[in-house]
Amino acid sequence: MKSRNVIERCSFCGREKSETNVLIAGISGHICDMCVEQAAHIMEGEMKDKRNRLNLDSVKLMTPVEIKEFLDQYVIGQDEAKKHLAVAVYNHYKRLMQPRKSKVDDDVEIEKSNIIMVGETGTGKTLLARTIARMLHVPFTIVDATVLTEAGYVGEDVESILTRLLQAADYNVEAAEKGIVFIDELDKIARKSDNPSITRDVSGEGVQQGLLKLLEGSSVNVSPQGGRKHPEQKLVSIDTSNILFICGGAFDGIDKKIARRLNTHVIGYNNVREMEQIDHDNLMQYIVPQDLKSFGLIPEIIGRLPVLTFLHPLNRESLLSILTEPKNALLKQYRKLFRMDGVELTFDPSVPELIVDKAIEFKLGARGLRSICEAIMTDIMYEAPSTGKKKVIITADYAREKLEKVNANKLRAA
Ligand code: ADP
Repeated sequence: MKSRNVIERCSFCGREKSETNVLIAGISGHICDMCVEQAAHIMEGEMKDKRNRLNLDSVKLMTPVEIKEFLDQYVIGQDEAKKHLAVAVYNHYKRLMQPRKSKVDDDVEIEKSNIIMVGETGTGKTLLARTIARMLHVPFTIVDATVLTEAGYVGEDVESILTRLLQAADYNVEAAEKGIVFIDELDKIARKSDNPSITRDVSGEGVQQGLLKLLEGSSVNVSPQGGRKHPEQKLVSIDTSNILFICGGAFDGIDKKIARRLNTHVIGYNNVREMEQIDHDNLMQYIVPQDLKSFGLIPEIIGRLPVLTFLHPLNRESLLSILTEPKNALLKQYRKLFRMDGVELTFDPSVPELIVDKAIEFKLGARGLRSICEAIMTDIMYEAPSTGKKKVIITADYAREKLEKVNANKLRAA
């Protein structure tokens, strides 16, 4: 109840009404505009932390089978890689969920299972990692190993990986420490010692040594804004022991090393029948850690990437599926673009086959599908919105006519 001579003031900071812009009255107190603002900041921080915790809880509920089912919606085939990923990601979260105390209880500490995926370029390694990111609610970043160099040389040093993760986590260190990093093109930092023109291997073994520190799990000082441009900025310490690293690479030529190993093995044991059963068209499926070593990865790195899996090369059938089946398949995307203008787009059933044939002819793999589709669709996408047509059919003849004009180099550059 308000008495006549009492000065109204903020019940939080004590400012008098005259010192505030707005003083909001409650049942038995007041709050000023400045305290409202401060409270909002506190709420925002609290809610962010809570969201991170909640998200981890929701991830925990997904079983490996559910994770794979999610991946199946976007990625065609590659069942082995999907299973390995699903189990590794599931275990990663189980590991994060285990209460700290339990380590003391039974002395069993679950080690993290960093993953390495080997497969030709354009077979879905990045797509798998991206799709995992879409599913998970933890900070995620993709980095390209080709830009990494040893500290002190032109390029980025390995700590920049953590800067990106920290940025993806909105600078929430606790969240970043539970994130996932996809390191693409790991094969590009293989040892190059066979190459006599390279005197100092600053982008090879040196980077592997640097990466080791991150993969092993240690506290790393990171500059939040990245780079050496801001030498005066404060460093943030990030513990990498709960960060899951997924690496990918094409490892061009590793099939020869696999073949050589298989040959020696078979001859060594004089087991000709075993050799006959080997599928020589897809040697990648026989990959073992030793092959990565022959390729130029240092044993310590291989040891820190205990889950080794491979992706199959994509055949005609898989390319056709990629074009039409995934949730955001290319042809579905074009249909949606047209639908947004009120136009019904249909493709003659033979058009996907023409697109795939072209991708195979130019050896572009799945990566080429998009540029081939663009070559067919650009003119019609340019004209259709102004013609007022309600239906567009891409016939085989139309597609063929457009495809005749494209040349492989232009598509490769796209
Ligand atoms: P990688 O990382 O293995 O070089 P990407 O994942 O970047 O290859 O694949 C390039 C593109 O090709 C993807 O964006 C996707 O559109 C398509 N693609 C490749 N493999 C698949 C697949 N297995 N399922 C669906 N789409 C695929």
